[in-house]
Amino acid sequence: MTAITGLLAALASGDAEIVDVTAPLSPQTPILQLPPPFANTIPLSLEKVSEFDEDGPFWGWNNIHTGEHTGTHLDAPKHWATGRDGHSVDTIAPSRLIGPAVVLDFSAEATADPDFLLEPAHLDGYVAEHGPLQEGAWLLFRTGWSSRGADPVAFTNADENGPHSPGVSAAGAQWLAASGISGFGVETVGIDAGQAGGMQPPFPVHHHLLGADKYGLTQLQNLDRLPRTGALLVAAPLPIVGGTGSPARAFAIVPA
Ligand code: MN
Repeated sequence: MTAITGLLAALASGDAEIVDVTAPLSPQTPILQLPPPFANTIPLSLEKVSEFDEDGPFWGWNNIHTGEHTGTHLDAPKHWATGRDGHSVDTIAPSRLIGPAVVLDFSAEATADPDFLLEPAHLDGYVAEHGPLQEGAWLLFRTGWSSRGADPVAFTNADENGPHSPGVSAAGAQWLAASGISGFGVETVGIDAGQAGGMQPPFPVHHHLLGADKYGLTQLQNLDRLPRTGALLVAAPLPIVGGTGSPARAFAIVPA
């Protein structure tokens, strides 16, 4: 039995299952809203080309309109000033898009404090308890935020000071950038905290991780169905040539 036939047998027998960790992609999918004077991307819309009518009697199809960073999506290094000479989404090695999923569960903390930030002490504590992060891992920051996904107001959670959602401190981002992970996945609209625009540097996860050739994955859900370790993450962004990111489908293969 090869490794692949073993995996297929496990999937067939129920010893392993595939968990879709992707948020549905629709015109209602929340997208990042930057304050003026910054420009924003557009949400998803479908433009009908034909729907079994005179424009296409036997087929339905649409044009899609949206930004690269809509819904569950991958951030490539080229998205950020610190990584602008690095990989665009099409040149990321597939081996970096598949790797061990390591789930850090801070859902209790993020529920108690929407501005909760992951600090080096949290990451050091994890390593002290569970050992080093696996090389090439996708570190998945479980906050429970995806439970707000159907309610754009609750998902953005903004007040007069801007959005409030959990993330990583600048020092925490530096810690992650120096680690052996392939990428960092979150349940929120972006890989940085809601208040990260005011941090030093602004948006430190983007700054440090994309500058260190590590990738981001956003708006994940169903992370509560993953074990702390032992699952395999598969992220599949579109290979947009020169693209700074792409909507992505992401799966976890989870042992029963
Ligand atoms: Mn993005």
